[in-house]
Amino acid sequence: MPQYEDYINWRRTFHQYPELSDAEYDTTKRIRDILEALDIKVLDLPLETGLVAEIGQGDTLVAVRTDIDALPIDEQVKHEFTSTNKGVMHACGHDIHMASVLGVAAKLKEMENLLNGRVRIIFQSAEELGYGALNIANTGAIDGAKAVLGYHNYPTLDIGEFAVKSGVITSSVDRFEYKIKGKGAHAAKPEQGNDPMIVLGQLINSVQSIVSRNLSAFDNAVVTIGEVSCGNTWNVIADEAYVQGTVRSFDEDKRLLIEERLRSIGRGLSEAFGVEIETLYHRLPGAVINDDKLTNDAIEVAQEVGYNVSIMDQPLTIGEDFSGFSNKYPSVFVFIGSNSEYDLHHPKYDPDERILEKVPDYFVTFVQKLLDDNER
Ligand SMILES: [Zn+2]
Ligand SMILES: [Zn+2]
Repeated sequence: MPQYEDYINWRRTFHQYPELSDAEYDTTKRIRDILEALDIKVLDLPLETGLVAEIGQGDTLVAVRTDIDALPIDEQVKHEFTSTNKGVMHACGHDIHMASVLGVAAKLKEMENLLNGRVRIIFQSAEELGYGALNIANTGAIDGAKAVLGYHNYPTLDIGEFAVKSGVITSSVDRFEYKIKGKGAHAAKPEQGNDPMIVLGQLINSVQSIVSRNLSAFDNAVVTIGEVSCGNTWNVIADEAYVQGTVRSFDEDKRLLIEERLRSIGRGLSEAFGVEIETLYHRLPGAVINDDKLTNDAIEVAQEVGYNVSIMDQPLTIGEDFSGFSNKYPSVFVFIGSNSEYDLHHPKYDPDERILEKVPDYFVTFVQKLLDDNER
């Protein structure tokens, strides 16, 4: 039966050999080998990377999820398990997530005959690209699940800390682009061209009116333009311009409203200035929404296994593709302290491995509670 020391070893091996999103081939093999050594069944699904394992029997189904991908970051932490894959690093702690959820699988396997239902354990690829969860959901592998449980380690919380809230817990993350096509000319002869620079100026102002003029004082969203480009010298009118940015919002209505306003600004300026404007809106992960009842259960279970629980008063503006599950099944996603001086996605991110001590107990206790409770 694997113990805490095994979780640490698993984590260090994952950390040493990180792989980018959708390329987690060796990682998937490592996970499969560990599961097979524990005699845990792996479902036959059409997945290139990632997998879903199953433990237990019966109709009631609960799912536990970990992500498995790493980031294109050059690790700056020195330890004996520093990344050997140059330029790739487990800087979001998905190595921690995998090791702890393998611990969950091992513990559940140990009590398999006592389980009042089935648990499907999801090891999903491509969280960092925002669609790995949706890919798993689309296989139907967890259709009928009464709950999907997930977590993210959180560097600014200490070991033993646990944070959650019901309802929206992370924002949606979308990206927009404008491609403006005007007509170039000599800078001294503007009447012969159609200057996209002027359109660009109008566009930046108009886009920044969305949050301030179209949303109520009681709604929240962020619209940020992160890049503009137009022209490359002083005496030429450019022929095109490019703008891109991000939208963070917390519910589908506002998300749609902002998308529609961005599109109508593109249409309106195109009409007003006689330029071609292509507006692109890319929907990345939606907001993760925690089920009220499951959130209460999560708090109860977390306290039971000894976490110090705090209730978040507002959602985070980061994205998390767990929304691919929470949009479809009752779900609860929580944050558990990993106490790193440097944040997620930082080359010096270095979580405290003691997080691995309690995470498996949280999920195992939670799964048992959900399977034993037939009222729901
Ligand atoms: Zn990340
Ligand atoms: Zn992450």
